[in-house]
Amino acid sequence: MSQVKSVAILGAGPSGAALGARLARAGLAVAVFDAGKRPDLVVGESLVPAIVPYLEDLGIEDEVREYSIFKPGATFVLRGGEEIMNLRFDTIRGARTTYSYNVPRDRLDASILEAARRAGAVVVPATGRVETTGEGERLRLTAESLEAARDVFGGHQPDFIVDATGRRRTVARMFDLETETGPRRDAALHAHMEGVDLIECGNVHTDILERGWSWRIPLQGKVSVGLVVPSEALEKFGSTAEEQFDGYLANDRVTAQWRAGAKRITGVMKYNNYQLTTRRGVGPNWALLGDAFGFIDPVFSSGLLIGLDGAEGLAKAIRSGAGEAALEKYQKHVIHHLETWQRVVDHFYNGRLFTLLQVGEIARSTRFGALLDFHFGRYMPRVFTGEASRGRYGPWLLDFMCRRGLVDNDPAELAVL
Ligand SMILES: Cc1cc2nc3c(=O)[nH]c(=O)nc-3n(C[C@H](O)[C@H](O)[C@H](O)COP(=O)(O)OP(=O)(O)OC[C@H]3O[C@@H](n4cnc5c(N)ncnc54)[C@H](O)[C@@H]3O)c2cc1C
Repeated sequence: MSQVKSVAILGAGPSGAALGARLARAGLAVAVFDAGKRPDLVVGESLVPAIVPYLEDLGIEDEVREYSIFKPGATFVLRGGEEIMNLRFDTIRGARTTYSYNVPRDRLDASILEAARRAGAVVVPATGRVETTGEGERLRLTAESLEAARDVFGGHQPDFIVDATGRRRTVARMFDLETETGPRRDAALHAHMEGVDLIECGNVHTDILERGWSWRIPLQGKVSVGLVVPSEALEKFGSTAEEQFDGYLANDRVTAQWRAGAKRITGVMKYNNYQLTTRRGVGPNWALLGDAFGFIDPVFSSGLLIGLDGAEGLAKAIRSGAGEAALEKYQKHVIHHLETWQRVVDHFYNGRLFTLLQVGEIARSTRFGALLDFHFGRYMPRVFTGEASRGRYGPWLLDFMCRRGLVDNDPAELAVL
């Protein structure tokens, strides 16, 4: 088993920085390469409750609370605004964490990176570049990157390299690793607004629109709004992201209900081509982490959880020496986690998830239904909060019930078009 004493992490987003903190705390020499070019607006502002223990572990929950909005639950708006479902995290049986936060991403990222620095990781203000050594798939830093991290590695190659470069997917592209794409071809348009109505203060809101869906995430003094809509439904509103965002928002009958007095206060960011995961996440002296390994879909705010949970697993594997078995265990865990969210997300789009929740509401009034509900209520909601998404039983039960438990109801009525 090889001993790993030094690690280069490419990318200073939440996944890379969280891994940096864990490894530096364990006494490893860690350089986190920070390309420093973040757009003004970054998606990923709604956190699931399972993230809170990671914030505590990093020692940043108090500061996160200061600049964030307390998030007690999630609100879903269905059938053109006629039906509203609320999930309060503190009503979930067996929940370990009963709240979360909506965060300004720039500040959250800065807090996690600062925690890595405090733990002893060195943040190298440069793009991290890698090349193959010529021995199979081994990687090394380029001479320029090695020089940039001279203070950490003293001119010697690090023992291990982590690709946490997000959607740039540096190493997966370099080796042309096999990928899997989900079925959706949506574009996500994101901006901050003032004067947007909310139903439940603090909750993340998900509205099913005439085409696609939207998010409303309350932040301090403003609301983050996202439109996740099939690309072809946007084109008629113009060619720029701003024209498409404003045009869609003004014309959809659901968004028209909550945008009456609203004003967009930022430009609009557009994201395409997500639902992309890599089927292999490790190599002889490297691993992929966070979005660089895979990203499914924004709908249940699972992205940061997958990254921070991955950082925990990868830190364990590296600290144990980054042997083949340990890396494979990490890879298997992340792939399982990604697959779980893909199934949950698929059932959101095909209408089965909300149909199941509605069937559950009716069944609860019968004695047998109440018994079943007692059991389901312990496992299924915790998949959404992220506490059970990494396990086996909760995700299996949810998937099984979405496929088999709809009685005679047609899921197409609640499908996202
Ligand atoms: C539309 C949309 C909405 C989303 N909403 C949510 C949400 O509400 N909640 C949630 O939890 N998640 C959400 N996500 C997902 C979330 O944004 C990501 O999962 C999360 O940012 C992943 O973190 P990361 O550290 O892996 O990557 P990133 O946050 O992308 O960080 C990687 C960083 O590395 C930098 N970099 C790239 N190449 C290099 C290099 N060679 N050297 C140095 N630095 C480099 C990049 O510039 C970037 O700053 C959303 C995603 C999308 C697309």
